[in-house]
Amino acid sequence: MHSTVICPGSFDPVTFGHIDIITRASRMFDHVIVGVFANGEKHPMFSMEERIDFLQRTVGDIPNVKVIGCDGLLAQCAKDFGASAVVRGLRAVSDFEYEFQMALTNRKLNPELDTVFLASDASYTYLSSSIVKNVAYHGGDISNFVPACIHDEIFKRIYIERK
Ligand code: ADP
Repeated sequence: MHSTVICPGSFDPVTFGHIDIITRASRMFDHVIVGVFANGEKHPMFSMEERIDFLQRTVGDIPNVKVIGCDGLLAQCAKDFGASAVVRGLRAVSDFEYEFQMALTNRKLNPELDTVFLASDASYTYLSSSIVKNVAYHGGDISNFVPACIHDEIFKRIYIERK
């Protein structure tokens, strides 16, 4: 049986933490769908198209990974794309309560949908898209957080916003 899983998120923008989870999932499952969701922050830094483009540039060359834009419920999106499990990264205990609630809700909505948690790599446990944006807004070095191509896009966006 072929396994298809979905890695959902806002990816605003993609970080080394996301890339680590997606890469590890691609070694464990036959097909990995990276689902970029519009919801999350009301005012994302990057549009859906930009976030998809950044993911294509960073994980697009992994043969069994496909990046898609998703609208609406994750449980429905997983069904539409034939995913039998959701893969989420767990950074700290603070992530757990929300993630557990989402996993149970998704299973209620789609009883065939399981959630698999991958422990974050120790070097990325502190890392989130919000932290990256915050550091960048204050002119800090984000080269340890995001790939070089994304790094430049973030600073370009901040420069444009400040003009
Ligand atoms: P969401 O807003 O849905 O949490 P994110 O873009 O923040 O979306 O995260 C997408 C997925 O990547 C989630 O499963 C999240 O736990 C995981 N993730 C984010 N940052 C890291 C990290 N530093 N290490 C491991 N997993 C991470």
